[in-house]
Amino acid sequence: MTYQLNKKIRELEPYEPISGTYKIRLDANECPCNYPDEIKQEIKSAIDKIDFNRYPDPLATGVVNSFAEYYDISPELVTAGNGSDELIFLTESAFLEKGDKMLVVSPDFSMYRFYSSICEVECAEFYKDDSLSIDVDALIDRVNDDNIKLLIFSNPCNPTGGGITAELARKLVSSVNSLVILDEAYMDFWSESLINEVCDYSNLIVFRTASKSVGSAALRLGFAVANPTVTRALKAVKSPYNVNSVSQEVGKIIYSHKDYLIERQKTIVSNRKTLYDGLVNISKKINDFKVYNSFTNFVFVKTPFGKDLWEYLKSKSIVIRYMGDYIRITAGTNYEVDETLKAINEYITTR
Ligand SMILES: *Cc1c(COP(=O)(O)O)cnc(C)c1O
Repeated sequence: MTYQLNKKIRELEPYEPISGTYKIRLDANECPCNYPDEIKQEIKSAIDKIDFNRYPDPLATGVVNSFAEYYDISPELVTAGNGSDELIFLTESAFLEKGDKMLVVSPDFSMYRFYSSICEVECAEFYKDDSLSIDVDALIDRVNDDNIKLLIFSNPCNPTGGGITAELARKLVSSVNSLVILDEAYMDFWSESLINEVCDYSNLIVFRTASKSVGSAALRLGFAVANPTVTRALKAVKSPYNVNSVSQEVGKIIYSHKDYLIERQKTIVSNRKTLYDGLVNISKKINDFKVYNSFTNFVFVKTPFGKDLWEYLKSKSIVIRYMGDYIRITAGTNYEVDETLKAINEYITTR
């Protein structure tokens, strides 16, 4: 007798990040810098006090309180996860039943669709227009006409960098029966959040993450914010010890440094503007290089020579994200942005 993997997992490949070491990493939308020594010292003494023999707090109370204070919301509305990735999987598996249909917009973050196939739910796609923006009225009709049970999208969007205003998001959430998840992974770089309004809706969950604007990708820390009924369900279905004690303790400290984080986010936004302006300049020198407006910490470009450019940059020890007809470049430090723009300019003069 031989065990056979089932069809839905047989063809899957483990996630393989880009290997090798590079001077400049602008492929994963991470924050370009680590924490200063004062914060690291605080982290060290907190880690010193952890009872490593004990399970973590299942409700992650300390970090949830710190997160809630940062965003000026009630901690009762917050569920912590092992990265928002866990929360995506959890919501799709628990809030949908077999045969239910969910809807993603396209292009968007690929994990939404990925988990749907493991959860065995049908995942339909709503396409953005040529400018890569969402026609909200058409989206509302689609959700209602197709009896969609879950709509999930990132706002502002990874990978396009665009987004819908809070006003349009409100209209959307209040016009559908479906559960709506707004993944606000990059909302600290913009200001159109609904995080303070979740109690106005029976059907809204907002996701946040410590991985991007907060600079803690290493911790694997994500948050779902929703009304008390939805939050109770989330806490009931999550695995009890999903966030480890180290991440809880460190996250609690990180979110308490609001002024520092906001300053750093401002710097990143300013670097993104430099990156955007530089790319727009490049687009004036060559054909087939379309640069999209961004409300995030990265810039999205449509170009048929993305693969070639990606390889050229890699040979200069700079990595960006190549995605078929598009490339996505994270705003790193000033230096990293300058070096990258210089290299792209070199590339376009030599090709
Ligand atoms: C990076 C990213 C995440 C991942 O968050 P983790 O908390 O690191 O799992 C979620 N959503 C979007 C849109 C992202 O770009």
